[in-house]
Amino acid sequence: MARRAVVGVDLGGSVVAAGLVTDDGEVLAQSQEPTRKRGPGTAVRTLLDVIERAYHGARALGVTVEGIGIGVPGTVDAERGVIGQDIHYVPELAGAPLAATVTGQLSLPVYVDNDVNVLALGEWTFGAGQGARSLVLLAIGTGVGGGIVQEGRLLRGQGGFGGELGHVPINFDGRACICGGQGCLKTYVSGTDIALMGTERLKRDVSAADVFRMAGEGDPTCQELVGETCRALGAGLAVIVNGLNPERLIVTGGVAESLKPLEHRIRAQLERYAFGRALASTRIEIVPQSKRSTVRGGAALVHYEMRRRAGAP
Ligand SMILES: [Zn+2]
Repeated sequence: MARRAVVGVDLGGSVVAAGLVTDDGEVLAQSQEPTRKRGPGTAVRTLLDVIERAYHGARALGVTVEGIGIGVPGTVDAERGVIGQDIHYVPELAGAPLAATVTGQLSLPVYVDNDVNVLALGEWTFGAGQGARSLVLLAIGTGVGGGIVQEGRLLRGQGGFGGELGHVPINFDGRACICGGQGCLKTYVSGTDIALMGTERLKRDVSAADVFRMAGEGDPTCQELVGETCRALGAGLAVIVNGLNPERLIVTGGVAESLKPLEHRIRAQLERYAFGRALASTRIEIVPQSKRSTVRGGAALVHYEMRRRAGAP
């Protein structure tokens, strides 16, 4: 019998990655390309190329592709596979009927959702959240996003904003945010913002990784900044623990690796803000992210949507 798989795609502001993923989450093949390799405004062309390569790779392996799942860094009308207007990192996709475009090319079922919703489905289906009835994933990277699975359903919200936990305000008079708000969690913990604050305070260009490394080496300015990051994250996680009290809470994304050694300090801050008994019943884990987990997320979206649209509970 021919083997079956789905294509999972992560369309980011800098890279488009696609992988061929089996039903049990094994990644058989994977490739990626710079999103704007062909110049500005060409993200869709790159996406189609990367998907076609995965599709033809599958045929060479004798694998039947059953569907395609795509995560994008913005809001999505997941029922129709149409991108919303809030897509800051790939603005040329605003309003694009992405599912229809890709289906037109390959005649396969195509599902599109927010990249962090997709990541949450991936961890729930194949990763650190397997078997949980409820799960919240917070992805901290260039931006900060969230995904919520409650009683086996992905919580998308009425306008596709469900799970936008990076934009909960944690400071009344805080820093201005890309979303138009102020004092959002994102403005204190994203890699972009940590680099920006580090650069301002040290008066020279630094990355977020530099800030964490220099804090570890004893630089007082970086230590202060990392202390603020831990406190902000503690408050942000308390919003999740008190507001949703999920069985599992997973912190991932590009910054997660730098946060892992700070777990006890983040936990101490979280204890200041969350209900003790809510915190005791939520299992929290910091999981460094890989491209493998993002393409598995796209695959999990296909399985989730096929089950949901078939009317499964
Ligand atoms: Zn915001």
